[in-house]
Amino acid sequence: MEDIRNNLFYEQKNGYDLITPQEHALVEEYAADYMRYLDISRTEREAVANAISEAEENGFIPYEPGMALQPGQKVYRCNRGKSLILAVIGKESLANGAVIAGAHVDCPRLDLKQNPLYESDELAFLKTHYYGGIKKYQWVAIPLELHGVVALKSGETVEITIGHRAGEPRFVITDLLPHLAADQMKKTMAEGITGEGLNILIGSIPYADDGKDRVKLAVLSLLNDAYGIAEEDFLSAELCAVPAFEVSEIGFDRSLIGGYGHDDRSCAYAELKAIFTVENPRRTCICILADKEEIGSDGVTGMQSAAFDCFMEDLCASQGVALRRCFENSFCLSADVCNAYDPNFPEVSEKRNDSKINYGMGICKYTGSRGKYNTSDASAEIVGMMRKLFAVNNVVWQMAELGKVDQGGGGTIAMYMANRNIDTIDAGVPVLSMHSPYEVVAKFDCYMTYKGVLAAYRN
Ligand code: MN
Ligand code: MN
Repeated sequence: MEDIRNNLFYEQKNGYDLITPQEHALVEEYAADYMRYLDISRTEREAVANAISEAEENGFIPYEPGMALQPGQKVYRCNRGKSLILAVIGKESLANGAVIAGAHVDCPRLDLKQNPLYESDELAFLKTHYYGGIKKYQWVAIPLELHGVVALKSGETVEITIGHRAGEPRFVITDLLPHLAADQMKKTMAEGITGEGLNILIGSIPYADDGKDRVKLAVLSLLNDAYGIAEEDFLSAELCAVPAFEVSEIGFDRSLIGGYGHDDRSCAYAELKAIFTVENPRRTCICILADKEEIGSDGVTGMQSAAFDCFMEDLCASQGVALRRCFENSFCLSADVCNAYDPNFPEVSEKRNDSKINYGMGICKYTGSRGKYNTSDASAEIVGMMRKLFAVNNVVWQMAELGKVDQGGGGTIAMYMANRNIDTIDAGVPVLSMHSPYEVVAKFDCYMTYKGVLAAYRN
């Protein structure tokens, strides 16, 4: 009976029951590196810049169109500072396809409006327009830091980062005290804090003169001293407010990581580490850090942009291969996070199919919503291939689905890759509190996602 059960039932095991103490040490080592990267990568621009500096340390050089490429060579191409493609050229022709892993490095946040600065009742504020799917009430009464760039008329770009380093001032959106919140508390959670209510408090001391808007003037004067900018310069600025929480270990056992932006920098880092590890691969390995995924992958730096096709076409042209031939034989891991089953919210989950913390890399055959709309729905054959790949390479993995049917839904870059005639499947790190200012992942799952991407690159 015991044998029959073991042979016929599919039973998942907690990842910590499957690894050796030696591998547990590797999990910790990997997690420490990832935490460092996440802590300094608060915007897509920073995630890309930090990835480039690690890539250069690992032998990658900027790709220039027309460059002759040898097997084993490592190149990267940065798209407007916001997205990045890295490649390690394979021994085989690109006619046999590439192995692609694609993650995104943009995260939900509060962008400043183009006319953000105002004074109200002797307090200065910045108006925001949220980016991506957020629960607005989570963004009040938490410390915020500002990151971004201001493009001046002169053509010069000024970088602004304030609130991240110890000792720097931070910013905050105030919330209503409970004593006066009787009406607010009757509203739905979607309405309790509004988009136009997400105004960031940035100053209170008036400028020493007799005019109006003296606090606003005082703040502008500080900004002018520090960055040489005036109010009009906000018109051509991209400044974002992001949570000012330090990335930290969570739990008495330190098994989890709390931080802003695990979606999807946990997968971006897994891909980076994997492509830094791979040497002389059989097929060309491609690592994508995309932008604009959180708002639909549109735009010049999103995965629907031709920037990716241009880069791949350049690589193919150097080998006399047609891009469409390369794509039809390529494979893409759309490395994006999935929702981890949360025992605090069992009502939205379907326990048999949701991913679980510490059960490894989560494979999503399909995402989308309702009757599987807006997803690529990978084939059974592709899932079968993943099962074999992960079994051979000791990657702990699990199936993942986004909660109960008809409860909600979501998408990734997978369908945009699949639409290019590339076999694609979603796979990534299960996340608790996804899209919140402080998301939680398991170290174990982060490490297994790295191992999963590496297994794909090597085979
Ligand atoms: Mn994502
Ligand atoms: Mn997301």
